[in-house]
Amino acid sequence: MIKICICCDKSIRDGEAYIKVDKMSPSGAGTTLYQHSRPCKPVPTQTSQVPLRP
Ligand SMILES: [Zn+2]
Repeated sequence: MIKICICCDKSIRDGEAYIKVDKMSPSGAGTTLYQHSRPCKPVPTQTSQVPLRP
């Protein structure tokens, strides 16, 4: 079974550390998602704030 990281959308290879994310759905059947345990996607840092203009 191929596990796809929900963070970076890349497959998690055997041996790679990952965490399971249980996602409950209203229909009852929950799905188990996987995510790299190490941050694999650069976290958006707070850059210069651009004021929103209407
Ligand atoms: Zn990932």
